This record gives sequence, C-alpha cells and structure tokens, in this order.
Amino acid sequence: MVGEFEAIGDAVTGGLLARAVEPHAGEVDRGHTHEKNCLNCGARLVGPFCADCGQKAHIHRSVRAFLQDFVQGLFNFEGKIWRTLPMLAWRPGEMTRRYIAGERARFISPVALYLFTVFAMFATLNFTGALGSAGGGKDFKDGLRTEIAEDQVALAKLEAQRKAGATAKKDVAELDRKIASRKEDIESNQRMLSGRPVVDAHLDEDTPGWVRPFIENATENPEMTSLKVQDAASKYSWLLIPLSVPFMWLLFPLRRQHSTYDHTVFVTYSLSFMMMLVVAGGLLIAAGLPSLASLLFFVPPFHMYRQLKQAYGLGRFSAIMRTMALLTFSFIAASLFLAATVAIGAM
Ligand SMILES: [Zn+2]
Repeated sequence: MVGEFEAIGDAVTGGLLARAVEPHAGEVDRGHTHEKNCLNCGARLVGPFCADCGQKAHIHRSVRAFLQDFVQGLFNFEGKIWRTLPMLAWRPGEMTRRYIAGERARFISPVALYLFTVFAMFATLNFTGALGSAGGGKDFKDGLRTEIAEDQVALAKLEAQRKAGATAKKDVAELDRKIASRKEDIESNQRMLSGRPVVDAHLDEDTPGWVRPFIENATENPEMTSLKVQDAASKYSWLLIPLSVPFMWLLFPLRRQHSTYDHTVFVTYSLSFMMMLVVAGGLLIAAGLPSLASLLFFVPPFHMYRQLKQAYGLGRFSAIMRTMALLTFSFIAASLFLAATVAIGAM
C-alpha cells in the first residue's frame, strides 16, 4: 500500500506539491542528499527516479520534507478513496471490470479497501456499542442498574405492606405473587448485568463430545468468549475471501475467460461494500434511526446484481439467476466463517 501511495503520489499530487514546496535550484537546503546511486537499492541513477525500485533520486532529511510526505500521502489516499467509494456504491461492476483490465492506480486496491473497511466496521460497532460484550454497552448496563435499584425500592415497599397485612390477618396471596415477580425481575437483570447468559446453555447426553469444551468455556466466562470471538473475527476476516472464491467458480463453470484473479477482485470489492453497509447500519442505529437501518437489508441483492451484470457483462436474466445463487452462496460462506470464528474464539 505504501509503495503504491508513493508511486501514485509522485505521479499525481507529488509533482505539483514538489514544485510548490521544494527549494529552487541553487537554494541551500540542509539535509538534501546528492547521490549517484539509489539510496534504497544502490542502482545507478538516471533521472529523478530510480529505474529499479522507483524511489526518488534525492531525499530530504528535514521537517519540511516529512510534512510534505504526510500531506502528499493524505491527499493521495483522500483523492483515491473519494473516487473509489462512489464507484463501489453505484457502479461496482464497472469498477471491478476496469480494475481487472488494468486501471490499478485510479482506485484503492481491493485488499487495501478490504482492510480499511474491516477496521472501519469494528471501530463503528465498538464505538456504537452494538458489539459490546455479552452484557451490552455502557448505556445498556447503566439502564439495568437503574432498573434493579427501582425494583429493589418497590420490593422493600411490598414487603413492608405484606408484613403489615400479615399482622392484620389480611389475605396476602396477591402481595406474595407481586413480591415473587419483582424478585424474579431483579435476579434476571443481575444475571444480565454480570454477563451470565439469560438462558443457560446446558450440556446433556446428546451434546457431541467435541462441542462440550466450547460450551463449558462460554458458560463459565461469556464476556471473555465474546471478546475472543470478536478478536478472531477481525483477525481472520481475510478468510471470507478464500471462502467465497470457490462459489464464484460455481457461478461461472463454463466461462473460462474469467480467471480466479477476476473472481478474487470481485468478491473482495463486494465484501468491502457489504461491510460498508454494516458501518452505515451501525451509524443509523446509533443516530436513533433503526427503521432506516433495517432498510439496508434490501441493498445487497441489488448491489450483487449490478456488480455481476457489469463486471461479467451479463444479460438481465443471467444476472438475476446468478444473483439468487450468489445470495445463497454468501449465506453459506458467512455461516462457515461464523462457525470458524466462534470455534477459534471459544478455544
Ligand atoms: Zn532504487
């Protein structure tokens, strides 16, 4: 990614910026090197860039040069991401096709975009509390604590009433029922607060032997297990790509002109978009618009249809059929991935 940035940066923004910021010939610049050979790889220098590795012939050891690199990198990523994201949303197939055909410098590469969206997704979900540990986010826990306190006050009142009623020899059955129900509420809220599962996963004779340690582990320490699963999901997120590519082979069994490389670019861009949807959904829920967020569930089929149709040059009917197959395959791939991360996380 860094190499890519530098190459593009030098070609696009770099030239302009360099002209504006770099000292003119003859000016004294401390730290400016004058080399005959490339400082990076040692190759003989001809012209402003190394012909072997692409590094600039002259480098600077000044704060200004450092800031210049920083601004250049920022502009460069900014420029590319604002070109890539709208294409990914509206013309995903065209972008996939153009990237495969060779327009590599124009768009963020599928792998860089994928890593970027994985990061963005986990950051958003953690920030909005959607992925909080077993007991939910901080607000949720605060809510539980308030509820428990209120229940305890009400419980004390009921118990006082019951005591008074019993002394006066009144019927206290109704009060007993209310007391029992309050106690139950308090207990279940405390259970949730401590992160213990509301419904106990229990082991019986039917539980297969290899599953037992996972369940035992998860029941003993659900918060830790939830964190471990999250950790595994982010660490092994790349697994979704190799899990998805074989399904693309199944989608195009007779089309030899589409290579595994093409399919890999396709699924990586597609998965990146789906993760962006999760980010959008998380933000909408955090903004208090859950109904709008639920509408996002309808987006994936349309996106898959458009990307398939444009990227592989399909007709409408063939694109619809393959979209339905791809939806099914995605569900299988996602389930496999989930099972794998839960297994890794619960170990
Ligand atoms: Zn070099």
